[in-house]
This record gives sequence, structure tokens and C-alpha cells, in this order.
Amino acid sequence: MEENRNSSVEISKEEFRKIGYKLIDDISDFINTIDKKPVTTGESPRQIQNILGISSLPENGVPAAELISKTTDLLFNHSLFNGHPKFLGYITSSAAPIGALADLLAASVNPNVGAHILSPMATEIEKQTVQWLAEFIGVSPNYGGILVSGGNMANFTAFLAARTAKAPKNIKEDGLTNIPNKFRIYCSKTTHTWVEKAAILFGFGSKSIHWIETDEFNKMNNNVLEETIKNDLENGFKPIMVIGTAGDVSTGAVDNLKGISTICKLYDLWFHIDGAYGAPAAVIPQLKNLFDGITEADSIALDPHKWLYNPLEAGCILVKNPQHLLDTYSSHPEYYNFTNNEEEITTNYYEYGLQNSRGFRALKVWLTLQQVGRSGYKKMINEDIELSKYLFELAAKHPELEAVSNNLSITTFKYIPLDSKNNADYLYKLNEELLNELQTGGELFLSNAIIHKMYCLRACFVNFRTSKKDISEIIEIIVREGRKTHLKLFKTKG
Ligand SMILES: *Cc1c(COP(=O)(O)O)cnc(C)c1O
Repeated sequence: MEENRNSSVEISKEEFRKIGYKLIDDISDFINTIDKKPVTTGESPRQIQNILGISSLPENGVPAAELISKTTDLLFNHSLFNGHPKFLGYITSSAAPIGALADLLAASVNPNVGAHILSPMATEIEKQTVQWLAEFIGVSPNYGGILVSGGNMANFTAFLAARTAKAPKNIKEDGLTNIPNKFRIYCSKTTHTWVEKAAILFGFGSKSIHWIETDEFNKMNNNVLEETIKNDLENGFKPIMVIGTAGDVSTGAVDNLKGISTICKLYDLWFHIDGAYGAPAAVIPQLKNLFDGITEADSIALDPHKWLYNPLEAGCILVKNPQHLLDTYSSHPEYYNFTNNEEEITTNYYEYGLQNSRGFRALKVWLTLQQVGRSGYKKMINEDIELSKYLFELAAKHPELEAVSNNLSITTFKYIPLDSKNNADYLYKLNEELLNELQTGGELFLSNAIIHKMYCLRACFVNFRTSKKDISEIIEIIVREGRKTHLKLFKTKG
């Protein structure tokens, strides 16, 4: 080996600068013309594989400049753009541009935000971010927590904390064998699929979940909830926690959180709120009543990569008494409280969740919160809600559309051709087919919801690029494509 090492992965200062400037120029052009591009090219997996080229692991290296330039083209020309103003599918937001810069900066410094000693500044930034997120949704800034990859991980992190808090004390040593009373957890039928994964993965079993029925507003029926808990207690089960949803994925409904919190207190249960999508709307003063009870939650999951417009991945779990996270994830909690010589609290994030080595995802959230401020967020979130209402109104007015629901920033509706209004089976099939056409067409992107057994089109507004003009255009596209799909289906039926 030579005296001075020459590593092939290193990039010279001049080259790095050149590649970097070009990349930033290209990204800047991309963002500025995103509304002119199709939302998606609708290419099939086979087509994509052909474009990518099938080859085995490269033996020798390729210059970085060439790779970055080729890959930029590959991604700009063959991706689905959730940053497009007409992307309203699922709950995936346009990404704040400052988040992209933050990720670049975070990766360049590359702190390991597992232990404080490895990431002194990043750890404190994450702590401040968690505190700001608590303030954002209007709960006590004393809630502690941790940033994770997304809603599923945030909910899992709380699920395990609830288990440690409410299960028999020896669970950490003995595991789930010999548990005298079988665990039960409660959530409404609208709860996201994470809860089933959690029940299976963390030893409860899927039968431990009581899917409580919903009322006509899609909220958990709290009377049924309480009856079910009582009944389980009488039959020797061990209720552990209730999950309230703040913004359900299909229609945006928010459960009666205050009512759930009262029941949880009465029966000594952990009160968890899944606010992965909806919790940031608690910042809107007019919605204060809707989120009444949120301050009582033992834990709250929220996704900065949804309605706080951060680039993926960014989820967060807030816990009222963060000691529960340490009890769950730290093998030596006493080590946390004081370092040896200073009487200062040291936060080691590996003791707060499932990950050990962890990236600096807090930086993008922290920066966006400052770039925008509470007032900027209030405005954007309000506008998303207004746009969803506007879509609902236009759909309600249109003779070939039926508006179905509107909660928070989610609107659902159906296409109904004038000549076959009452054929439910046909309308189901037609709207399903229509959505498939729309999703590959590239003009806009919606997803679906099944409501009262009806197949509905669903638009979720977590997109700061969408404007009123997009909504009127979207209506036109849907009706035009609806007519075409109807004609096509009618013909094939004979
Ligand atoms: C999106 C969502 C999840 C899952 O979050 P990911 O970030 O996709 O893991 C869970 N619950 C609700 C209510 C959601 O909206």
C-alpha cells in the first residue's frame, strides 16, 4: 500500500463540487417543471426492468459523474411523482424542498443518532424536534419520543411500550408464555393495517384485536367499546390498550378521543392515538373540538412525511411519560438518568426505540418546522382542507358524480353515468375500472376507498402544490374518462 491511501469511493473536491452543482441544477429544473410532467408514465414492471437493464454485479467501477447523471435521467423520466400538483393518492405528500437539502446535509455529516456521544448536536436537534411536534399538535411539551421511519414503526414503538406498561411485570424476563390472562386490544374497524401486524409480531395474536364497530360518521362506537371491555374482563381476559384513530386512512374520520380517554382511565388501559395522517390538523383552531382528548393520550403516532410535507422517511411517536420507552427499550434504565460526572441528562436514542444505529431524519423535520413556522403550517393545512371541500362541492353539483364523504382533507366520491344510476354491482366495477385507467393515465393520481360496500374514488390532500385550478381540471378529467370507461364496459357486456 502506498503512503497516501487512494480510495476508489472518495471523490475529489473539484469533482464533488461539479457533480453536486449539476445535480442541484437538475433537481431545481425538475421541481420547477413538475406540473408539466405526467404524474406517472404508467410503465409496466417488465418495461421498467428493460429500461433499467438486467445485468449482474459490476466488477469494476464507473465514474461518479456518469452514474449520477444517468440515474438522474432514470428517476426523472420513470418515476411516479407524489410532488405533482395533481397527485392526491393515498396519503403521500409533496416533499418540502428544504427536506431534500437537509437529507443531503445530514448524510454528509452522517452522525449516528443512536448514542449521544456519537451525535451530540443531532441528538439535541432530534429532542427539540420531538418537543416542537408535541407543541404543534397542542399536547404538553413534556411528551418525549423518537423519530422513526413512518407511521407503522411509530405505532409499533408505542404498542410495545403499552405492553410493557400494562402486562404483568415479569414479561421482559418470561416473555408471553404462562401469561395468566390473554391480552385484548381495542380499535375501530377503520384502523390501519399496522395493528394486525403488531398483534401478530409482538405475540398477542390477531385474535387479541377487538374491531369495534363504527357509527354513521365512521367513528368508533364508544358504547360498544365499553361493553366489550366489561365483557372481556368478566371472561378473564386482560385488556391492555385502546387505539383511537385521528384521521382514518379511508375517510379521514377522527374518533371521539375524549370518550376513549375516559374509558381508558376507568379501566386502567393505555390510550394510544394513531394520528399518522390527521394529528397535524390539531394545529387548526377551528378543529380544536374534533381533537378534544388528544392531551390525555399515553402515546400519539404522527407522520411528518404525511401532513407536515417532509420527504420520506419521517414518522414520530410521542409518549406522555417517556420513561415507558426506556422501560421497554433500555436494558439499563438507571444509566440514562445521570452521566458519571455531570448531573446532566443524556439522551441515547437507542434506548427509546427498536433501532440501534440511526440516521439523522430529524434534521429535515426540524428545518421545515422553522422554514414554515406554525402560522405557515396552519395556512397550508387549512388550504388542503379547503381544497378537499371544494372537490366535494364540485362533485356534489355534477350530474355524473356523487359526493360521498369529506373529513379533514379526504374526499370520496363516485362516477355515476346518467343511464345506469341504480345498478350497484355495475357502479362498483365501473369505478374500479375507472380508477385503474386514471392511475396509469398519468394526468392525475387518486386512490380508492370502499364505503358501505361501494367502490369510491378517494382524493387525499396533503399537497402544498395543488391549487383550485387543479380541482376543476380533475373533475373534467374524471368525467371524461368515466364516460369512456362506461362506454368500454358497456360494449364488452354486449
Ligand atoms: C399512513 C398511515 C399509517 C402507516 O404509516 P406509514 O408511514 O405508511 O408506515 C398508519 N396509520 C394511519 C392512520 C395512516 O394514515
